[in-house]
Amino acid sequence: MHQKLRYAQDMLRHVCPTGDVSLVFDRALSALIEQLEKQKCGATSRPRESRVSRPDSRHIPAAVKREVWRRDGGCCAFVGARGRCSERGFLEFHHVVPFAAGGAANAKNIELRCRAATTAAFPIGASVVKSTSPGLVSPRVIQRP
Ligand SMILES: [Zn+2]
Repeated sequence: MHQKLRYAQDMLRHVCPTGDVSLVFDRALSALIEQLEKQKCGATSRPRESRVSRPDSRHIPAAVKREVWRRDGGCCAFVGARGRCSERGFLEFHHVVPFAAGGAANAKNIELRCRAATTAAFPIGASVVKSTSPGLVSPRVIQRP
C-alpha cells in the first residue's frame, strides 16, 4: 500500500508538489466512489439510450438502476414501524411486486433495499410511497391488501 501511495503522490506532483496525503486520499476515494457507483447502479456521465427489456426478463436496465439509486438517495428505501431504514450497505435492487407475480423491472416497481429488508426480518405488507419529484423521497408506510 505504501508503494501505491508513493506512486500516486509522484503522479500528482504537478497538482500537489508537496504530496499532501489528504489530497491523494480525497482523489483516490472520489475515483473509488465513481467506480463503485458505475458498478452498482450504472452511473455514468454519458448514459446510452436504454433498451427496453422484455416483460418476461428479470434484467433491470441501467437507466432504471440509475433512476432508482438517485430517487432513493443510495439508501435502503424500506419504511417500517420505526421509520425509514438508513442502511447504505448491502443494497439490492428489489422488486416491490415480485418478478414471479408479474412485477416489472421499472422504477415504479424497483426500490433499493438492504439485505435485511429483503429477508423475512421485516413485516410483510409495508412499503414506501415515493414522491413524484425526482430525488425526493417522502416515505410513509402503506398496507398492501
Ligand atoms: Zn434496510
